[in-house]
Amino acid sequence: MTDTIDAQVSAPVYSVPQERRIVTAIPGPKSEALHQRRLAVVPRGVSSALPVYIAKANGAVLVDVDGNQFIDLGAGIGVTTIGHTEKAVVEAAAEQLHDVVHTLFTITPYEEYVRVAELLAERTPGDFAKRTVLVNSGAEAVENGVKIARKHTGRNGIAVLEHAYHGRTNLTMAMNFKASPYSTGFGPFAGDVYRAPNSYPYHDGLSGAEAAARTINYLEKTVGADDLACLVVEPIQGEGGFVVPADGYLPALQEWCTAKGIVFIADEIQSGMARTGAYFASEHFGLVPDMVLSAKGIAGGLPLAGVTGRAGIMDSAQPGGLGGTFGGNPVAAAAAVAVFEQIEKGGLLAEAKRIEQTLTAGLLDLQAKYDIIGDVRGIGAMIAIELVEPGTATTTKTPHSEAVSAIAAYAAQRGVLVLTAGTYGNVLRFLPSLAISDELLLDALSVIDDALASLTA
Ligand SMILES: *Cc1c(COP(=O)(O)O)cnc(C)c1O
Repeated sequence: MTDTIDAQVSAPVYSVPQERRIVTAIPGPKSEALHQRRLAVVPRGVSSALPVYIAKANGAVLVDVDGNQFIDLGAGIGVTTIGHTEKAVVEAAAEQLHDVVHTLFTITPYEEYVRVAELLAERTPGDFAKRTVLVNSGAEAVENGVKIARKHTGRNGIAVLEHAYHGRTNLTMAMNFKASPYSTGFGPFAGDVYRAPNSYPYHDGLSGAEAAARTINYLEKTVGADDLACLVVEPIQGEGGFVVPADGYLPALQEWCTAKGIVFIADEIQSGMARTGAYFASEHFGLVPDMVLSAKGIAGGLPLAGVTGRAGIMDSAQPGGLGGTFGGNPVAAAAAVAVFEQIEKGGLLAEAKRIEQTLTAGLLDLQAKYDIIGDVRGIGAMIAIELVEPGTATTTKTPHSEAVSAIAAYAAQRGVLVLTAGTYGNVLRFLPSLAISDELLLDALSVIDDALASLTA
């Protein structure tokens, strides 16, 4: 959908000064002490990228227990998209806490669930009757999307793409591309999952049409369209390294799915909810998915996820077949309604485009200076650089994951939290909240510049 943005927005007021500030070693002594307690009671399988323990977060800044402030370029992996502790979200959730915290929608329903479903029906691509089921996590949304597609089609096969990430439950582990750390040793895995080559312009050099022909041919030959219930795609791959497919790739896949009766599911868990300057990244590619999966950014940090799809598909599940104890919790749903309102009131789709311009320009400048930056890509506030061994940027494009870890570590010491990604761990991803100012972005970019300079010195 296209939105007219009201540019007359008053500047937000932050309870934490929007600046980085390092006052101790990183991690500081209080974080170290907490970390020791944590190691005694939390399994090592739950790891932390940067073990600084956070006491407060606001806007685009995290404050740790030692008083260090970090510019947050990760937003909890694209969750606090409209900013940490955003005022309207906090107020809506607080108010809801006093009214109703839980009833279970499948016993006695409440309005907030219905309102989120209405908003998703209006904001997801496609002008047709839709239904939404609300759940608790992204993986649960993927599970439900697949479940409904199977019921609707009477088929079993699930098609996914190389470099995909869909979650950590049993079914979604089988749908991920990367085994380590996500699935190593955790089998047996769900069957009937078929992984096809994707479009990865920096590496395959294929046009969208060529890459789509390769994907479709692979699926036709190895499974056969008649056995496929759904194709699940991230319009821009998240954990895979912000891979933006070549023009025409996704529409060709969608067209093939429609012709073959395969449910086309867009996993917009990371790319959705205004992140890319459109409500859903599908819009950039002209897609009208049969189903859209939302989670991460939908409720300002509270756990909520949704499966929104064509009424005829969604209603194929029998009464009682969908649901769960906490799905669509009233507090999370009230927060989500506030998120939708703030995206529109705050002109946040335009903010995502501003962030894209600032980040892309800054990163292209860095690419001109440092030949280990092989690729700069992404849309909106979802931008990444792919790092390669020196001298290989246009030849073998050899992954340089040590550089990525070194830059992230260097930046953390100076108060910039930046996340890594990519199947080979050689992608640095910039996924800030839409509340981040250009000033903070430029400051963070100067730290990345210094990090690159220190690496190549
Ligand atoms: C994070 C993510 C998931 C899984 O979401 P959880 O809430 O962690 O279960 C699924 N798909 C994509 C694209 C994601 O980024």
